[in-house]
Amino acid sequence: MSSLDSELGPYLIQRRNQHLLRQRRNLQSPQGADIVVDGEPLINFSSNDYLGLANHPRLIEAGQRALSRWGVGSGASHLVCGHSEEHHLLEQELAALVGRPRALLFSTGYMANIGTIAALCGRGDAVFEDRLNHASLLDGALLSGARLQRFQHNDTEDLERRLSQSEARRKLVVVDGVFSMDGDLSPLNEVSAVARAHGAWLMVDDAHGVGCLGETGAGCVSHWGLNPEEAPVLIGTLGKAFGSFGAFVAGSEILIETLIQSARSYIYTTALPPSQAAITREALKISRDESWRRSHLNTLIEHFKAGARGRGLELMPSATAIQPVLVGDAERALMLAQNLKAEGFWVVAIRPPTVPEGASRLRITLTASHSQKQLDLLLDALVRVSS
Ligand SMILES: *Cc1c(COP(=O)(O)O)cnc(C)c1O
Repeated sequence: MSSLDSELGPYLIQRRNQHLLRQRRNLQSPQGADIVVDGEPLINFSSNDYLGLANHPRLIEAGQRALSRWGVGSGASHLVCGHSEEHHLLEQELAALVGRPRALLFSTGYMANIGTIAALCGRGDAVFEDRLNHASLLDGALLSGARLQRFQHNDTEDLERRLSQSEARRKLVVVDGVFSMDGDLSPLNEVSAVARAHGAWLMVDDAHGVGCLGETGAGCVSHWGLNPEEAPVLIGTLGKAFGSFGAFVAGSEILIETLIQSARSYIYTTALPPSQAAITREALKISRDESWRRSHLNTLIEHFKAGARGRGLELMPSATAIQPVLVGDAERALMLAQNLKAEGFWVVAIRPPTVPEGASRLRITLTASHSQKQLDLLLDALVRVSS
């Protein structure tokens, strides 16, 4: 048998030849609209720090205070002795934000998704997922042992057909509230109606909606005006709009108790540091008190779309902070990203398998820390590099 390295090496070479090799860059600055990457100052259009909170002085102070009070590590899992008062209060505040009886903290959105799906479904059940769902949702369904069916993106007729043909015991429909690589919304009003008509439960992963959408930042379920029974399982993440780290599941008392008993990615892992919970609590306060962050972000989204139209640049149909430019070819997407970097912009090329074959793109994200001027500079540079 060949050695580990000689077995693995050809895969990396193939990835590079196909322009699909992923590379990390070292940041030498905190997150923000202006960052330093590999020693170069760049305007950042790639982060999910939608409200501009990841380097906010009040979050930093909240973290420093909490470190002094609670120390550094949580020491154990939530069920052993890692669940602090700070976690408890954050869960109550998250439940209040999204208008559910309870919320449960997970260490990451990835873990919330795999743990929740596998706790709700198993062999004999079926999970119906939008084709463009986040990888963690697909992985959760695979891990659960339930039958995974992927329906065409935002196609409720395809979903309905599949649901009506299914004889599974439990049926779970799972969608991204905002699709992470396209920026469009799942039509939750229709999806929930179809799910309910077929006795299926709906789980919404609102990683990119909480903090941004809805009057108070309650996310896309509030944006669509759905009541809790219409979307009984709600996932939110804390590392994006809230600038912090972690994730939560919100829902009924019974749902949350069930997850505490059986979600393996909740039970068998160390709790988030209490300081991180304290930081998120401060982020929730800022998000509530400074609604200008959401309105400024919405103004920027409109400004960006109008600016693109005015310059003849084609965007994808997104009304959110995720404004991708579809390129198609992976090599060309990489080249455009490199040329933008040379012009002073950090825009990442997203390539397969994160997006379908032939659908490589520049994933541009806007945040409340950007100015209209910075958007205009990016739009002008996009015109130059694409010509
Ligand atoms: C980022 C993301 C996740 C994962 O959340 P993490 O906290 O980063 O693990 C899950 N779902 C969607 C749709 C995401 O965009």
